[in-house]
Amino acid sequence: MVREAETHADIPFGPEDTPWQKTFSSLGVVGGRPYGTPPSSDPRAAYLHVPEVPHYKVQLPPTGLDAQQYGEAEALFRRHVDTQTRNFAGYQVTSDLDYEQRLGHYLNRHLNNVGDPYQSSSYTLNSKVLERVVLDYFASLWHAKWPHDPQDPESYWGYVLTMGSSEGNLYGLWNARDYLSGKPLRTHHREPGQAGVEQAPQGDGPNAFHPVAFFSEDTHYSLTKAVRALAIDTFHDLGSTRYPDDNPLAPGTPWPRKVPSTEDGAIDVEQLAVLVRFFASRGYPILVSLNYGSTFKGAYDDVEAVARTVRAVCAEYGLDKRHVPHGRGEEGGQDERSGFWLHVDGALGAGYAPFLEMARNAGMVEQAPPVFDFRLGDLHSLTMSGHKWMGTPWACGVFMTRTGLQMAPPGASEYIGAADTTFAGSRNGFSSLLMWDYLARHSYDDQARLAAECDDLAAYTHRQLLALQEQLGHDLWVARSPQSLSIRFRQPRADIVRRYSLASESVHVDGTARAYVHLYVMRHLTRERVDELLDELRQPGAFTPAPPTGTTAGGARAARPVEPVADAMAG
Ligand SMILES: *Cc1c(COP(=O)(O)O)cnc(C)c1O
Repeated sequence: MVREAETHADIPFGPEDTPWQKTFSSLGVVGGRPYGTPPSSDPRAAYLHVPEVPHYKVQLPPTGLDAQQYGEAEALFRRHVDTQTRNFAGYQVTSDLDYEQRLGHYLNRHLNNVGDPYQSSSYTLNSKVLERVVLDYFASLWHAKWPHDPQDPESYWGYVLTMGSSEGNLYGLWNARDYLSGKPLRTHHREPGQAGVEQAPQGDGPNAFHPVAFFSEDTHYSLTKAVRALAIDTFHDLGSTRYPDDNPLAPGTPWPRKVPSTEDGAIDVEQLAVLVRFFASRGYPILVSLNYGSTFKGAYDDVEAVARTVRAVCAEYGLDKRHVPHGRGEEGGQDERSGFWLHVDGALGAGYAPFLEMARNAGMVEQAPPVFDFRLGDLHSLTMSGHKWMGTPWACGVFMTRTGLQMAPPGASEYIGAADTTFAGSRNGFSSLLMWDYLARHSYDDQARLAAECDDLAAYTHRQLLALQEQLGHDLWVARSPQSLSIRFRQPRADIVRRYSLASESVHVDGTARAYVHLYVMRHLTRERVDELLDELRQPGAFTPAPPTGTTAGGARAARPVEPVADAMAG
């Protein structure tokens, strides 16, 4: 028997407030009963209220919307999006985009880059020809060896992500886990059909193929998710279960969850070294993920110093270079690989910092962040988001590694005619087109100039906020980490946070949680908009917390205080 949920079929629904059961066209009602379940309560009351776009205007009745209803609903949504776009200042994504004229055509074309970017697939409706060009562009920008050559382990390999850096992090850590646990490399993988059961690798000691992950407390939440999804142990997991009393940073105290950062938000290299040594000396292979442009503070980990330190510590315990057996019997052999993996999460920084470095070399700015890219021989993988520095209408990005570090994909994929070397199945082919379009129209010079302008406006914003703090005689906790495009300060009133889409985060300072917001100076942000925000912050009451609940004139608006917007995307 089909269970009848407790329902309310006469709940007003859609732009005309029609009782729900009356919203059906005739084919949707068979035997007098509507197809599908009625709502069990009023969805308009169930969800977050967006005052500018009333829920009933956009609800989708089974009949769809007629032309007039559609027009009204879309106009409301458009006005809302356009207003938010104009004021968008809180996140590290560029929101001034101009793809429509040139690329609108492709919205009616299906482009799917399923499978490896360097293999043509039987799925010919794709943009891989542009994807490879975009990947070469970044390979060169990041000083990798290019073009990709499947025979050359030093050449780069990469692909354009369907998600953003979250996917790049997940994919990078997946590769890292398999590499460090001794799984077969792609180059040693037998053709499908011949595959036997891989022999479990043997090495020095019980921990030799048990990777342990390290990342700082300023790391994006996608790393926490990735280690959980991939069942990778962090140093905290292993430390607190196997060595509960031996936290080397402070003997006798509980293990920290993440590697401590400096106040600027960069990983503390000395403390990292202590933690890495603890595990390397016990034979565990080491997986380090670094931030190049941390999400909240925009801090750059010193990738070069970490690479040097991790290599040196690992070398003391034979983890710099080791031999991993693969295959069986006559087919068997062994490969040489490192016992550590360095992944760089460069969501914003990998797109931005190369141009800031060019600007510095040209004398346009004074400083650029430390080197992070394939100039470092020990960089294993890198990811960047396309929607952040470049700006695209949706999430996308690039993942890059060295060809010799690629792991054998789990299975064959005859169906698509190209190796299944990427994370997703179907891959969005539009994103490669967007990045290609952007890069075709913005030279290195253009981007170096934009980078210098953003750096300059960030410095201006920082100075102005410091002046405001002085003027108000009130500590606003204003701070900017070196070369960061993020300026952080005390969280202002909720409506200001919402108007400018400022991202919130609590930061622990001297043991107490402080509610901060940050502003990100991306290229769409203008000095006028910054001044406008400063004017609002200067008004009395700008830093008074709004009452958490209430039934003021705003009605439902006041009923839900602004959530820390951070979890919407980046924080
Ligand atoms: C934004 C961000 C991410 C996640 O990138 P998405 O493109 O949103 O998936 C990862 N790491 C850092 C440091 C980020 O700032």
